[in-house]
Amino acid sequence: MEIKFTKAETLKAKPADETKLGFGHIFTDYMLVMPYDEGQGWHDPEIRPYGPIELSPAAMCLHYGQTVFEGLKAYRTAEDKVQLFRPDENFKRLNVSNQRLVIPHLDEELAMNCLMELLKVEKDWVPHTEGASLYIRPYIFAVDPFLGVKPGEHYLFVIILSPSGAYYASGLDPVNIYVESKYVRAVRGGMGFAKTGGNYAASLIGQDEAHKQNYSQVLWLDGVEQKYIEEVGAMNIFFVVDGEVLTPMLQGSILPGITRKSTIELCKSWGMKVTERRITIQEIADAYDAGKLDEVFGTGTAAVISPVGHLKWNDKVMEINNNKIGKISQKLYDTMTGIQWGKIPDEFNWTVEVK
Ligand SMILES: *Cc1c(COP(=O)(O)O)cnc(C)c1O
Repeated sequence: MEIKFTKAETLKAKPADETKLGFGHIFTDYMLVMPYDEGQGWHDPEIRPYGPIELSPAAMCLHYGQTVFEGLKAYRTAEDKVQLFRPDENFKRLNVSNQRLVIPHLDEELAMNCLMELLKVEKDWVPHTEGASLYIRPYIFAVDPFLGVKPGEHYLFVIILSPSGAYYASGLDPVNIYVESKYVRAVRGGMGFAKTGGNYAASLIGQDEAHKQNYSQVLWLDGVEQKYIEEVGAMNIFFVVDGEVLTPMLQGSILPGITRKSTIELCKSWGMKVTERRITIQEIADAYDAGKLDEVFGTGTAAVISPVGHLKWNDKVMEINNNKIGKISQKLYDTMTGIQWGKIPDEFNWTVEVK
């Protein structure tokens, strides 16, 4: 499919100090927009100047939340190559989310072509500073001007790009996490496995509570018994208990993270025992009391690996590994970021170059 290109009249100045990019504030010169219309399918992709999108006040996405999104990054290597990490997994997952929200399937090759073309135009926006990258946000939303509740017949697929700083300004740093025992984020049969705005809307109140208590993120428990561990706000969670790597199994209520998947594959390749199963918070507290909880870490595209320094469950505060980065967390971080920035060989063929 031909991608139309509409040139911007002026280009923005690139950020002068790449150590102060932060996350999600700055956007590049161009975005990709492709409509879907019932009967026509996805059609007429266009790369056009980044800017507001006109929407009807009745647009369905604004009322009933029929939206999905993805998040990935482009990395610049020391040889000045620009590469992506497992982008095919993102577009596969986008369609899993689409299916749950009754949004039409988007051909993954078409989506990838759209992204590659946009990145070719915007290559210079991929930061040159170690640890900084170009965050990529593909998303889809229903635009029908209609107040009835039903799946849309008109959508937009949009990709925007945002140069973002290193997640940890001064290297890996343990985070403090609060176990939420009042609110829940998702239930089995719900849409916890889909990357959709509604899951985040449901999580904000817990996040607020955690911040008030000086914890940076929430660890969610299952929505039925509030006994089993699910995941952190935008990260999956891992425990190392007595040398064994444990993570909650995928049962439909948690997001199947690509960093989670890569973590499992790496640990297995290193000959470690990795188990995906239901894990109670009580079991983790018991392992802590027995001195067997070696490490806890989160996984996600933004931070890659987030070692957990403190875990608070009701009145119990667990200090993990003396609030220090664990060996496995560090090794995973070094390996994954090493592959992403092309510093170590990509034995798994996870990276895709933007040419
Ligand atoms: C995106 C996301 C993750 C992490 O997924 P990655 O593919 O590893 O970036 C975890 N949990 C939630 C709720 C998410 O939205």
